Amino acid sequence: MSMSREQKLAAHIRARPHLKQIFQFHQKVEEIWNASAPDDFLPVVDLRDQNVRDRRRIGRPLIDRPTFERVGFANSEVQLRKILTVMRQGGGEREILAQRLTSFLRTSGRNEAWLIRTILTRDDAFLDSLANDSEVPAPLLIHLIKLSLRISFERLHETLRTVLKDMDWDHALCPVCGGSPFLGQALSMGQRRYFCYFCSFSWTATPPEGCPACGLVDPDRVNLLYKHPEENQGILACEGCFSYLKIVDQRSEDEIINPDIQEIIGLHLDMAAGEMGFRPLGQSPQRAEVIIRPGIDDPRF
Ligand SMILES: [Zn+2]
Ligand SMILES: [Zn+2]
Repeated sequence: MSMSREQKLAAHIRARPHLKQIFQFHQKVEEIWNASAPDDFLPVVDLRDQNVRDRRRIGRPLIDRPTFERVGFANSEVQLRKILTVMRQGGGEREILAQRLTSFLRTSGRNEAWLIRTILTRDDAFLDSLANDSEVPAPLLIHLIKLSLRISFERLHETLRTVLKDMDWDHALCPVCGGSPFLGQALSMGQRRYFCYFCSFSWTATPPEGCPACGLVDPDRVNLLYKHPEENQGILACEGCFSYLKIVDQRSEDEIINPDIQEIIGLHLDMAAGEMGFRPLGQSPQRAEVIIRPGIDDPRF
């Protein structure tokens, strides 16, 4: 008998009281997802065979972010508003930040859909000016957009899984949105499942030996550092380019891992990696929060 997503989350909260607040926030966000409808993101992808083949061949993801101009965000916008309400109810710093963002939107005559669309389609300079004007940090803006789009992306993924089935994609970037993987699951036969930080797509790759970012093959400088045996999580860190990837060692294909929960229980690994001078895979030293934007940035690094 398999547990539902909510039951699993409740079990994780009981097992990790020190992460209770973060889990509880996530649980509220899950309730919002469960009660919401997705927006239709199909207009952002061109599923004609030739296009899909060409992109796969050069390692270019399916979505060019400027094409998000074509879709509506009516449902995502409601979710963002609800998430901001949960933040306000949480008190403390979260409440202040949510309040700031809401008043920024209201006083500038904009709405949540505008925020989502412009962050998706515009460049870094725009995100910086937005963070500056609203006094809400850019990483939080990206995180809120990501949470608000989750179920719409999941709906899109349902369609794409058939299209992307049997694809040959070993790049360490998401074949759908071009975002970086924040987690790798070690599978049997040397395979690895990657989980996209931004859209939550997951795909199986045969990673080349060594560092997934720079390709360095040197066992003394590219190491899997296991810090937490009970969680089966570790970090694959490279002293060549100073990037790292969290790896969860669960080799069975059938073992379904929940990336949201892995993200929370792996927070201490992110902190440890940061203290040692490493940065998450795919993120530039200057802009740790910004995802790769196909159509704006070159997704290959
Ligand atoms: Zn993605
Ligand atoms: Zn490297």
